[in-house]
Amino acid sequence: MQLYDSVKKAKVPFEPIKEKEVSIYVCGPTVYDDAHLGHARSALAFDLLSRTLKALGYRVTLCKNFTDIDDKIIKKVEETGKSLEEITQYYIERYLEEMDRLGVQRADIEPKATESIDAIEQMIERLIDKDCAYVVSNGDVYFDTSKDPHYGEISHKVHDDEENQSRVVHNSEKRNPKDFALWKACKGGEDICFDAPFSKGRPGWHIECSAMIEKHFEGNGTYSIDIHGGGADLLFPHHENEAAQSRCATGHELAKYWMHNGFVQIDGEKMSKSLGNSFFLKDALKVYDGEVLRYYLNSVHYRNDFNFNEEDLLLIKQRLDKLYRLKKYPITKKHYAGLNSRYKTLILSAMREDLNISKALSYIDKEIQTFNFAINALQEKKVNIDIFKKTLYKIYFINYLTKTERNQLKKIVDEYFISNYKNLNNDYISIKDFNYNDFISFLYNTLDFSINLQRLYQQPKQKNLLIVYREKLEYEINTFIKIIDILLGFGGKEPYSYFQIGVDEDLKSQIEEKLQKRANAKAAKDFATSDAIRDELTDMGIAIMDTPEGTVWEKI
Ligand SMILES: [Zn+2]
Repeated sequence: MQLYDSVKKAKVPFEPIKEKEVSIYVCGPTVYDDAHLGHARSALAFDLLSRTLKALGYRVTLCKNFTDIDDKIIKKVEETGKSLEEITQYYIERYLEEMDRLGVQRADIEPKATESIDAIEQMIERLIDKDCAYVVSNGDVYFDTSKDPHYGEISHKVHDDEENQSRVVHNSEKRNPKDFALWKACKGGEDICFDAPFSKGRPGWHIECSAMIEKHFEGNGTYSIDIHGGGADLLFPHHENEAAQSRCATGHELAKYWMHNGFVQIDGEKMSKSLGNSFFLKDALKVYDGEVLRYYLNSVHYRNDFNFNEEDLLLIKQRLDKLYRLKKYPITKKHYAGLNSRYKTLILSAMREDLNISKALSYIDKEIQTFNFAINALQEKKVNIDIFKKTLYKIYFINYLTKTERNQLKKIVDEYFISNYKNLNNDYISIKDFNYNDFISFLYNTLDFSINLQRLYQQPKQKNLLIVYREKLEYEINTFIKIIDILLGFGGKEPYSYFQIGVDEDLKSQIEEKLQKRANAKAAKDFATSDAIRDELTDMGIAIMDTPEGTVWEKI
């Protein structure tokens, strides 16, 4: 796996600090308001990373925090008269619900700052003991940036940053302009405070992530975790400060790799038709299905900035529609045999290149096209050679052979097709052109081991071969879609419910009512009425299909 490390500013091979294990910490939201599209983008980027690493065989532990104590939250407490817990719990639940709708897998550890006060205090005490931090007269505790010779190496920002300084209340007792608050003493009044040896107060933002990482991860003595992630806006000062605190407190580096996702804009920050000028995820979820948003927000490489644009979204959605159209093809409910297929290998080969999603999606588009060709060709009794070869060697022989023999068989089958169909200029042959007897003789004459004679002599008729081929094709499609669902998190819905996206509950019940009337009419052999109802539905923009499982409908 190759990852782009934002500190090294290069793609580097990923080598975890513990074999086969990966520890990831991602800075989560400050819970004083609804999640915006930037939160969604970050959650989706690290969800893809975690899914990819899992598929590559790593045991992944993902930790994402909730900052539930902060100036903005305290302001909201003062404005609303609600308790801190009421406010933060409400926004945490909202955040998790919305991320669920985007198909983001939950983090393994979701610590809150208010539940990590002990760890935070311990780390601040250690920093004070080492003289890397100091308490000023009002009880605030500052980190002394001059004590860390590596300060600035994470973000490559060494100059004094105006913005950074304006983030902390100006305090003339600061030793250096870049020093930042680890602990903010209570000023009295409505402040929400915790007791600590240095003063009654509350933690600064940066220290919380460092303390949580030390609390939840063991590290290996050189690094605390493998990967630290977050939005590009967090690189400085937040991650620089996290790294400095942890370095001084623990004597080792915080993370081996640093990954940052790009920003989100809406129409280059212009007004958007359906979303207004809202960056809130909840507003986007009112207009678009979570899975469509997931596909769209993931369609651009995570490091690039993302320009949210409804025209792009609708174009991108057509690609997802194609996957669901394929999924409508009647499919046998077969097991997926461990999913170690070519599809998994190919998608992962793209994703292991620093999550090259464009490559993975274009591979998926191409494969959908191949399957559609194969489905259409089957109507003319033509078979896709690749799938047909798999049909032959898998269905008839594979269970009887050793691995070496199976590999030899595969090679021989390949040879047979190359020598017999070398004039073929496409990947499909008519089943009529396939001579089973000839094929068997070729195997006999070429294989240097014996295969089960009885089974071999059960020569299938062409019709039966087509049935077996069709099952194999369905199995391949099924496996393909299942793998996409596991690796990338889309394609998991029932296809008809996907095509009902955007139909409101009122209209849904009207449609269901009409379908019931139509079913009654059909049962009474009143075909005029049943046809009339179908026409009414067509006029409403609804297509209906009669399937063995009953009548289904979708938006045209
Ligand atoms: Zn953080």
